[in-house]
Amino acid sequence: MKKYNFNAGPSALPNDVFKYSSEAIKELDNIGLSILEISHRSEKFAQIINRAKDLTLEISGLESNEYEVLFLQGGASHQYLMVASNFLNDVAGYVNTGTWSEKAIGEAKYYGNVIEVASSKDKNHTYIPKNIKISDDVDYLHITTNNTIFGTQFHKFPVTDSPLIADMSSDIFSRKIDFSSFDLIYAGAQKNIGAAGVTMVILKRELLERNKRKIPSILSYRNHVDKKSLYNTPPVFSIYTCMLNMEWILRSGGIEAIEKKNIEKAKLLYNEIDNNDAFYGFVDKSDRSIMNVTFGIDSNYDSEKFDNICSNNFIHGIKGHRSVGGYRVSLYNAISIDSVRVLVNIMQEFKKNR
Ligand SMILES: *Cc1c(COP(=O)(O)O)cnc(C)c1O
Repeated sequence: MKKYNFNAGPSALPNDVFKYSSEAIKELDNIGLSILEISHRSEKFAQIINRAKDLTLEISGLESNEYEVLFLQGGASHQYLMVASNFLNDVAGYVNTGTWSEKAIGEAKYYGNVIEVASSKDKNHTYIPKNIKISDDVDYLHITTNNTIFGTQFHKFPVTDSPLIADMSSDIFSRKIDFSSFDLIYAGAQKNIGAAGVTMVILKRELLERNKRKIPSILSYRNHVDKKSLYNTPPVFSIYTCMLNMEWILRSGGIEAIEKKNIEKAKLLYNEIDNNDAFYGFVDKSDRSIMNVTFGIDSNYDSEKFDNICSNNFIHGIKGHRSVGGYRVSLYNAISIDSVRVLVNIMQEFKKNR
């Protein structure tokens, strides 16, 4: 039996993506070749990557004359370096909401000065800083929209006249937002877009004008834009899974329908955490993430017993991040409400049978 997979990433993908991508490994669209053996310069792959770009713009509601979409390698972690090498000329502002923000800040410091304009470190990243004030002369402001590890999420974004750059790895396409208020968005595919190995970048063309430093080609957004993500061999299969997943998003009713379902799933689980004495949430209620739900077990209950019940019931991937402990349930787009119901029932049984 297939498990209920609540992994934080790589994570569950829609069944359609597993089905169509595995068929394409055997043979892609009756062309006599596997997706794994076609040339990245072939007409067939041009159709796939162009379709993936078009779907990205369609889902995010952005215009192709204003925004570029890139599919790059190196993960979100590589974007920390690319963002700073391309756009940190003097000083940049970063909001520190956890481990991933801290990594982004660490890489940026190789290129210039970083002002931590706000931080949630004082309370171990259990909330999102509010009323963030930014001096307007920063090269850009960088935020992490969803804190995958601690389970907090921006529900309102900082307003700034400087370019706004976001790591959206764990909540992209999970909710309706105004994508046009961002100048650069990046996301490792393995949480909510597709198979690991590719990073989606959505970039406002105007931003490229702000690049002043001479940088190696592999780090240069301009180079990747000019080469249409084909500067070097791209991860063909991962990009194909992104295309399939975005087609699934549209078939499922688009981002509005996905958001509605995601909110419903998160409510169901948070409701159980709040009303079941065996469990307690880790973060401020107003800043809770609808993607990564973190919680602990009350000390009067036996967590080992809970772990056993979960594994006996095919629940997979809910152990908290090693830096936080407890539990983390990731509710990415592909997770069904029925899977969440299974978990909630187990939580209720666990409390009753203490
Ligand atoms: C998972 C994650 C990352 C790391 O992504 P890689 O693709 O492994 O580099 C970065 N930021 C956030 C918010 C994440 O959730």
